[in-house]
Amino acid sequence: MTGTNPDNGEKRPKRRLLWRGRRYSLSRIFLNFYLLAMSTFVAIAFFADALISTALKGITDDYARRFMRGTILMIEDELFRYPKSAWEKRIRILDEKFAYRLALAERRQLDLPEALLAQVDAGHIAIHRNGEIMYYALRQSGLVLVLGPLSPSHNPELQAPGLPLEMRIRLLTWSVIGLLFAVALWFWVRPIWRDLEALRQTARALGEGDLDARSPGAQSKLFAPLADTLDGMAEQIQRLIATQKELSSAISHELRTPIARLRFASEMMSETDAPEERRRLSAMMENDLDELDNLIDSSLTYARFERETPLLNLSAVDFAEWLADQVDNLRILGPKLELDLDLSRLPPGLRVALDRRVMPHAVSNLLRNAIKYATARIQVSAELADGHIQVHVDDDGIGIPAKERERIFSAFTRLDRSRDRATGGYGLGLAITRRVMELHGGTASVSDSPLGGARFTLAWPCNSTA
Ligand code: ADP
Repeated sequence: MTGTNPDNGEKRPKRRLLWRGRRYSLSRIFLNFYLLAMSTFVAIAFFADALISTALKGITDDYARRFMRGTILMIEDELFRYPKSAWEKRIRILDEKFAYRLALAERRQLDLPEALLAQVDAGHIAIHRNGEIMYYALRQSGLVLVLGPLSPSHNPELQAPGLPLEMRIRLLTWSVIGLLFAVALWFWVRPIWRDLEALRQTARALGEGDLDARSPGAQSKLFAPLADTLDGMAEQIQRLIATQKELSSAISHELRTPIARLRFASEMMSETDAPEERRRLSAMMENDLDELDNLIDSSLTYARFERETPLLNLSAVDFAEWLADQVDNLRILGPKLELDLDLSRLPPGLRVALDRRVMPHAVSNLLRNAIKYATARIQVSAELADGHIQVHVDDDGIGIPAKERERIFSAFTRLDRSRDRATGGYGLGLAITRRVMELHGGTASVSDSPLGGARFTLAWPCNSTA
């Protein structure tokens, strides 16, 4: 594992990296992300605040009107106790006693929006500038009482030195929010960053050809699936490359013998005119060409199964009929052998889900082997056990020694080369069979046969029943 673990101190990943040609680090990413998130948050908060206060404006204006009505009417009564000429003076005296400004204005000179003027003329309290200034027409006097601005921030003489209190509270609140957010974000971003960095290192090592590289395990839940996927991908690539290497070296090795024999036969052919000898040589060449054909066929099939996981196209088949067809197709390869098919243990009319394209490979490889290795008898049987359909191929040949029973399912494994060469195999058939079974969620295994030789068994979950 070359995945670098930031904690063990062996190969520390470099903290500074290049991204789109620029250097980037955790602190920079954190800062960018923080600024973006925080400014979005502040913008949303202000927008929400503005939205809510607009929606509430009618309600708060109404509340302010009712709140101030008594005061305004008392000021009006107070003024009407004096002649109009004394109002200016009275209002100045009153103004000194109030926390906000009091003034009189000529109705004609009021510069207000139409709607507000209409309210004033109708004898209502009109509120202007975010509830800060109130206007009230004094009965038939042509004068308007002006109260406000009401809030302390608009009355400099009431204001404490420095920033207004409201502003200070706002600043303090936002600073605390900003700080808490930064701490939370840091704890959230740090493990993600570490995982990202570890994944990047692993991907780079893989890209540079170190196929043993695996991610050191994600700390954050967010990246755990990605790390698993990357490791799975690395494993798959490694397996594929190993298979391809093995396949190509095995094939080139296997190609040599028939090609050398072909060359030899063709040289002999050019040197002889005897028809008998030419016929013998030509039959020999035919055999070698068949062998080459077989080799290419099985290599391609095996490579295809190893390379891709074909999407299974399952269909429910009448199993007894399907298996009988498979056996009949191959019967011709062993004309002198007694080949029995025993379907008596299958429930009548049983339908089994299988891929019609792929499954024949599994069965025919077992049958071909049985035909190759049987002395006189082969028996194919099927049964339904524990929700699995099982197919047994028994023969009375030499069997498989117990210690070899797992190994023979690996590609290019042949037990006895001299014997197997005579039977013309490449050790790919059983590997293909096992792969087909894996695709169907099943297994392929071998044991002793009641006939004295090998019993190969295929078993896969049976979804369809009679
Ligand atoms: P091959 O194409 O060489 O037969 P397989 O993968 O089908 O490749 O088989 C692998 C090896 O397993 C064979 O070479 C042979 O040694 C052994 N084997 C397979 N089937 C039988 C059998 N029915 N009886 C005895 N040995 C067998």
